[in-house]
Amino acid sequence: MNRKAILFSAPSGSGKTTIIRKLMQYFDCFEFSISATSRQPREGERDGVDYYFLTPETFEARVQNDDFLEWEEVYANTRYGTLKSEIDRICGNDKVMVFDVDVNGGLNIKRYFGDDALAIFVMPPSIEVLEQRLRGRGTESEESIQKRLGRSAKELGEAHKFDATIINDDLCRAVEETRKKIEEFLAR
Ligand code: ADP
Ligand code: 5GP
Repeated sequence: MNRKAILFSAPSGSGKTTIIRKLMQYFDCFEFSISATSRQPREGERDGVDYYFLTPETFEARVQNDDFLEWEEVYANTRYGTLKSEIDRICGNDKVMVFDVDVNGGLNIKRYFGDDALAIFVMPPSIEVLEQRLRGRGTESEESIQKRLGRSAKELGEAHKFDATIINDDLCRAVEETRKKIEEFLAR
């Protein structure tokens, strides 16, 4: 059974989702760990594909039931977490687990999997560019943008705790650099 994990963390808007989508097309062995969240779906997001969208009450019940490997209140009143059942599902398929989680979640998952995990921090070229990307994505209200930017300075200071940092300036270059690091990790 495969237990290898690749996890991506970064301040929101750095480009994790974009990089992961490109890599999923390249690595057949990847399977994305679908997180649970208590936030509302964005336009185009699907339950059971992008996230398991839970009500705050159901999320809390699943916390009480010890269903999560890790969870965080990433933003006030908005929780995100990795369900243990996702790990079982993906390992059972003999696939490499891919996580898109916040910085604390990433460090917790790294601690759990140890050398079986490659922890990648996706670094935006600057806070200004991060803000432009968040605004350019067009998915967040002003309040949500401010919440996300408010966390980013602290999160950027945690980059050194990860196995690798990828600067997401030019997307093709960043994807290529990430691909090489993953190939080295999988060949170990
Ligand atoms: P995250 O998943 O980290 O929150 P996204 O992948 O949603 O970030 O990226 C945020 C926005 O920035 C998206 O609109 C995406 O198209 C854009 N983006 C991502 N990487 C780059 C890049 N290297 N150059 C320019 N725009 C980018
Ligand atoms: P978004 O609302 O933009 O989809 O995600 C907001 C933040 O929550 C991102 O930093 C994302 O990586 C993080 N996140 C998503 N799923 C999880 C999870 O399962 N656990 C943790 N700790 N963070 C998550």
